Amino acid sequence: MKDIINILPDNVANQIAAGEVVQRPASVVKELLENAIDANATLIKINIKDAGKTLIQVIDNGIGMSKNDASICFDRHTTSKISKADDLFNIKSKGFRGEALASISAVSHVNLITKQPGVELATEIEVHGSDLKHNKSTVSEIGTKISVKNLFFNIPARRNFLKSNNVEFRHIVNEFIRVSLAHPEVKFIFINDGSEIYNLPNSNFKKRIVNLFGLKTSEKLVPVSENTEILKIDGYIFKPQYAKKTRGEQFFFVNNRFIKSPYLNHAINSAFEGLIDSKYNPSYFLNLDVDTNTIDINIHPTKTEIKFEDEHSVYAILRSSVKHSLGQYNISPVLDFDRDKSLDVPYNYNDNNQPASVGIDVNTNYNPFDAKYVKIDSFEKHMNSLEFSSESNELKEFDFEDINKEVSLNHTIQLNRKYIINKTKSGLIIVNQERAHQRILYEKYLKSVTSNNFSSQKLLNPIEIQFNKQEMGILISNKNLLVQFGLEFDSESDKIIIKTIPSFIDYEKLKLSFENLIFNIQNEIPDNSFSESDLISKIMSKTLSIKNGKSLDVKEQQYLINALFACKETMISPFNKKTFVKIDFSEIENMFK
Ligand code: ADP
Ligand code: MG
Repeated sequence: MKDIINILPDNVANQIAAGEVVQRPASVVKELLENAIDANATLIKINIKDAGKTLIQVIDNGIGMSKNDASICFDRHTTSKISKADDLFNIKSKGFRGEALASISAVSHVNLITKQPGVELATEIEVHGSDLKHNKSTVSEIGTKISVKNLFFNIPARRNFLKSNNVEFRHIVNEFIRVSLAHPEVKFIFINDGSEIYNLPNSNFKKRIVNLFGLKTSEKLVPVSENTEILKIDGYIFKPQYAKKTRGEQFFFVNNRFIKSPYLNHAINSAFEGLIDSKYNPSYFLNLDVDTNTIDINIHPTKTEIKFEDEHSVYAILRSSVKHSLGQYNISPVLDFDRDKSLDVPYNYNDNNQPASVGIDVNTNYNPFDAKYVKIDSFEKHMNSLEFSSESNELKEFDFEDINKEVSLNHTIQLNRKYIINKTKSGLIIVNQERAHQRILYEKYLKSVTSNNFSSQKLLNPIEIQFNKQEMGILISNKNLLVQFGLEFDSESDKIIIKTIPSFIDYEKLKLSFENLIFNIQNEIPDNSFSESDLISKIMSKTLSIKNGKSLDVKEQQYLINALFACKETMISPFNKKTFVKIDFSEIENMFK
């Protein structure tokens, strides 16, 4: 028999390893930032182009590499951080696997310039997909500058599977936030497509949180501190009223390393039990310090999961110290924060004549519009507009599916606050309320955007809403898209000043709508829209649709069904999900056989 086993050439092995380590541009950012931290840098600059697809550059003022080290750092298993197996149980650095640079250089064009203190010349190395292009001496500052260009240039499948720039950029910012939170002692500058989006001076943990998430964050924080033999906790939680429906800011750092832990997250949730609605998520920024030999950080290739020797105790200590902080805060609301209620208002009205209530609810008496407009809740408003549009002539031109003709609208039942059941001639249909409403809104918006027929309200008194830098970045980069939709705003460093809103956005829920909007732009919207009008209509339909879980009265249920079946496409949501299923009498008969 012939031998059939080959030893894979290094460049192939590196590409395979890269599959684990380098999933997307953000993975490169994480590895390069961590290397800079390990090199004791006190200033780290990051420069991103095209959401990292074109360029990821990290410049540090750390210890640099010698000429020899620089020549081998792109080989696999080259690390200065461990030398023997025992070291694995006492890891204080971020890296230790020695495969990040090998993996990154296997799937991109990398240029490295590095210089140690006390030597005259720097070394410059260029590697394209594991092939050394040059290795020469050059002139440079102390420290290391790594530029990673054209990621996945040699793996088109991976490159094509990258998500939209918005999504990839969000991942990058998330990694940046994690590393910069874990190291407030390091100064960071982050430049995206030529503009500086973060400039974080070296500071302490609390100031770093505020610098990252906005000035208003300061008053939301409650300190948590605990010191036991097995675990030291130090950090902050958000007061319960700032819990978010979307997963808010949730950060665990174990020995300065960001980790994900559903188990420890559960400990926090249970400490908040009774204080926030179960649909809301608490925000937290917690540093846990444990003895390095009581954890195993080796279980995950990208090192975001670790194993604790005694995770039950860690859970219990965490839960009780968060509870303790919450208790203290409830007894004495001032704790170490002088609380000014007016600061809790999400909007700064220019003619701020009334203090608003705490949390995201605003004073309902104040509004620049017609009083009756504000009283209708957003769902009714959608419904009213639907009623109007479904009577219009345009809709009559639509080709209805056969099923559409069958719906008789007299018998509807809402099931589980999610499904609407409706009897038809041949059986029954079960409609998913959220998806159906997305479809209805999507078609309505698409029609208005493409025919430029939007009614928007110019606000007499522009409204200011504060956002953190990440959120601001998203809003600004999508400004042109939003203008098409009747949403016009100016921006300052940490807030937008809204001048015009589409008439169907509920004025009172503006802040919430914007939060959802940002969330949807970041997370939910696939990058396969035909056009900008299509994209914005999808985003807005997702943002403003009624949600599953909302109880609807019979009139609302019937509007929804009526309007769904007046749509051009009735069967699927704008996100390709079924809007309804149909069960024929014959199927029901079969069930009883
Ligand atoms: P690891 O971080 O697991 O050791 P990497 O592939 O990320 O593996 O890096 C390989 C080695 O290259 C590191 O151990 C370190 O010695 C060196 N190195 C990488 N980046 C830097 C940097 N920014 N400054 C100094 N040395 C670096
Ligand atoms: Mg590394």
